[in-house]
Amino acid sequence: MYREMTLSGWGRVRSGNALVARPERVRDVYRLFETAGGRQICARGAGRSYGDCGLNSGGILAHTERLARILSFNEQSGEIACEPGVTFERLLRVFVPLGWLVPVSPGTAFATIGGAVGNDVHGKNHEHTGSFGQHILEMDVMTPDGSTHTIGPRRRPEWFRATVGGIGLTGVLTRIVFRMMRVPGPCVLVTRKRVDDLDSLFSGLENAGGAAYSVAWIDALARGKFRGRGILETADPLAGAHGMARKPGPAIAMDFPNFALNRLSVAAFNAVYFHKASPIGRTAPCHYGDFLYPLDRIGNWNRIYGRRGFHQFQCVVPYTEGFRAISSLLEEIAARGAASFLAVLKRMGPQRAGYLSFPMDGYTLAVDFPNQAGTAALHSRLARVVTDHGGRNYLAKDALLSRGDFERMYPELHSFRDAAAQMDPDGQMGSDIDRRLGIRQR
Ligand SMILES: Cc1cc2nc3c(=O)[nH]c(=O)nc-3n(C[C@H](O)[C@H](O)[C@H](O)COP(=O)(O)OP(=O)(O)OC[C@H]3O[C@@H](n4cnc5c(N)ncnc54)[C@H](O)[C@@H]3O)c2cc1C
Repeated sequence: MYREMTLSGWGRVRSGNALVARPERVRDVYRLFETAGGRQICARGAGRSYGDCGLNSGGILAHTERLARILSFNEQSGEIACEPGVTFERLLRVFVPLGWLVPVSPGTAFATIGGAVGNDVHGKNHEHTGSFGQHILEMDVMTPDGSTHTIGPRRRPEWFRATVGGIGLTGVLTRIVFRMMRVPGPCVLVTRKRVDDLDSLFSGLENAGGAAYSVAWIDALARGKFRGRGILETADPLAGAHGMARKPGPAIAMDFPNFALNRLSVAAFNAVYFHKASPIGRTAPCHYGDFLYPLDRIGNWNRIYGRRGFHQFQCVVPYTEGFRAISSLLEEIAARGAASFLAVLKRMGPQRAGYLSFPMDGYTLAVDFPNQAGTAALHSRLARVVTDHGGRNYLAKDALLSRGDFERMYPELHSFRDAAAQMDPDGQMGSDIDRRLGIRQR
């Protein structure tokens, strides 16, 4: 029933030994709870969370890869019911040719629908379309006493709000019903334009408010008058282009040596990448799969930072503080020369579905750092900037936050704890992030 395995988060910085089960039917999940024998349980999807929210050292992990059936689909309303292990990739392949798309998608198609609920994920369209949890009609969650509860925005709403974004700490999801979105074809029309500084990047994002999708890549190592230079990308659904296929992707699967990634090599890469984009903007059709999931084309890209792995720091700060906060964060990063290829800035709307959901009306910045001496200290300086400006960090990406910062960042934590205590009074759900941050506070 179980296999003892060492699993890690996507950043390969945190790992843990757990008894891993692969339930295939809902009754197998029931058996897991029945036979847990005092060990804590947590579900795990595709393991695309960077830190430790999908780890449960010394406990049981219910890996959902076999609990992955599409149960029903209504062609009129777009309503779909599926099991939690269904991936975005599968939904893209099956439904885009039929003219339907998952309305909210993270930047990887390998993530599962269960994982999307667990972190109430957002996409490049959050400002207009909200978070994943806001498209859910109802879902079934099995609590540790073995009972299945159907919950939704209007059905046991407190339990629903604790479970969406609740990083698996209220029970195991076994069925999720949500609404898909109609699309006029398999492509978006994308415009990419490079901009020379942070001012222009912010105004570019603000003016992109009419586009369905918007996102900016930032050269996080650029300093002085170039600080905040980047590439602005906006996109809207495109009618037609039905023959257009996704680009095939090369696969890299190697650990880059640590010395290969230093300030100079990353700065050189960033400069080339920046100058490749047009200063006046270039528009072209792009398949949803390539637009939404550019990194998926590079197999195992998380190994590029070497054996010691990497951290992703993702925060959101309110609009009123946006420019000042993002400037300070970029200043800290560039001053420390912390090598980062991936720095992404997006606008978010106020919509969030759960007590511990990440989104907030404001700007979100995501930056990768190799795991090396000084990274933890840099992280805590950045987290201080975020709390000083009233923002928060994303638990899906976190491996370093302190308990104090976490509690300051999540003001609805008490509501989460109350609902989770009703659903799991004996504290049988648990995970590494839960124990590190004292989320359930047993
Ligand atoms: C390249 C890349 C890009 C990304 N881009 C984005 C982005 O744009 N926006 C965004 O929001 N996130 C983004 N992420 C983060 C990712 O979407 C989330 O971490 C997501 O939760 C991963 O899903 P998963 O299936 O891998 O779940 P896991 O990482 O395995 O688990 C995530 C959480 O969900 C819980 N969970 C999983 N299944 C169940 C279940 N059946 N019942 C109860 N709880 C469950 C787990 O316990 C865990 O706490 C990105 C990640 C990567 C690697």
